[in-house]
Amino acid sequence: MAATPVIQLPVISECVAESCAYNHDHTCHAVAITVGDVSDPVCDTFMDADMEGGERSVTGRVGACKMADCRHNTGLECHAPSITVGYEREQVDCLTYARA
Ligand code: SF4
Ligand code: SF4
Repeated sequence: MAATPVIQLPVISECVAESCAYNHDHTCHAVAITVGDVSDPVCDTFMDADMEGGERSVTGRVGACKMADCRHNTGLECHAPSITVGYEREQVDCLTYARA
């Protein structure tokens, strides 16, 4: 039987959006985030709430990304080894975004 391919989702090496429920000490703990609203590489999973979200034992990864024009994007999936997330024009964006 053929081995099932292991898909390694890109890790979020740092996120400075401390007001997000999934953030603790600049680390994202959402199991898998979604990036992009088609025009901007925003973190679509960002949730400005005073509550603890995510799984503390997990470092967040990119589950899906809608930024088809990013050089790291193939088939609406991110293939960067890791990304960083932070503030860009007063919104929380993937800072690894690079137009192809
Ligand atoms: S990457 Fe997104 S979901 Fe994770 S902590 Fe940052 S803003 Fe929140
Ligand atoms: S690096 Fe590009 S493809 Fe990966 S999450 Fe960021 S915007 Fe999406």
